[in-house]
Amino acid sequence: MDYNRLLENIYQAILPYAQEGKQASYIPELAKVNPDQFGMCIHTIYGEVAAIEQADTRFSIQSISKVFALAMCLSIKGDDLWTKVGKEPSGTAFNSLVQLEVEHGIPRNPFINAGAIVIADLLLTHLENPEADFLRFVREVSCNDSIDYNKEVALSERKEGYLNAAIVNLLKYHGTIENDIEDVLHFYFMMCSIEMSCRELSQAFLVFANHRRRFDYAGITLTSSQVKRINAIMQTCGFYDEAGEFAYLVGLPGKSGVGGGIVAIYPLQYSVAVWCPRLNSKGNSVMGIKALELLTTETQSSIF
Ligand code: GLU
Repeated sequence: MDYNRLLENIYQAILPYAQEGKQASYIPELAKVNPDQFGMCIHTIYGEVAAIEQADTRFSIQSISKVFALAMCLSIKGDDLWTKVGKEPSGTAFNSLVQLEVEHGIPRNPFINAGAIVIADLLLTHLENPEADFLRFVREVSCNDSIDYNKEVALSERKEGYLNAAIVNLLKYHGTIENDIEDVLHFYFMMCSIEMSCRELSQAFLVFANHRRRFDYAGITLTSSQVKRINAIMQTCGFYDEAGEFAYLVGLPGKSGVGGGIVAIYPLQYSVAVWCPRLNSKGNSVMGIKALELLTTETQSSIF
């Protein structure tokens, strides 16, 4: 398969959508990003790599970091984790408070903000140096020591993060989290602020695509069954209230972020990352979804 040519053809085909949607502005630093950028990169488990356009430009991975956080937490807590957070799709927006109140402070899944904030709290409790340990893990799965947080983005989100502050308060009220709410929010925003390129993200997610290979990075170990389960949660919960639409159009487990990145995997075949800051009304990259829809259609590689 000539993946470079395939990605180029996909890019040409989706150009008519290049002006659709707009970048996230509720995080002031993200509003400054040039919305007219696009990158895409694919890594197969056989070592093939193809990358086009701005595949090497770093962007804010935002909620994609929730997959790394879940992997760490599952390794540390095992199935005990599921007493504090569920694994059902929410069908609501990424920052919704609605279910959290009705369901007494137990978030639906680890990939909505409320669930990821619970994961942040658990990591704070169990890691010796949470910020350093998280970064070390992400660097190891990515085989890249230069990956880092962007503190300006994290601070900018904290300044305007009223909804996440409401979520953390509700969680604290219900006794779901242990640590000081400011510490939990700070760590959560730091994780979201990590910057990576499409090439780095698709490289990193190979560890989820290749779930039969031994998972052991920076002291974080998972069985192949646990990795498979993380992939299942990506499939059902990776796109907030658009998880069904993504399964319908693309048919792969994946995770999006409001920085405009999407990463998806085809188990035992490939990992792919795509980025364009312009988002649809659900917070998912317009060009990103179009590109992945074409990729799985052209290669007939959807898991369905
Ligand atoms: N840091 C973002 C927030 O909490 C992450 C949201 C996302 O990427 O979906 O709002």
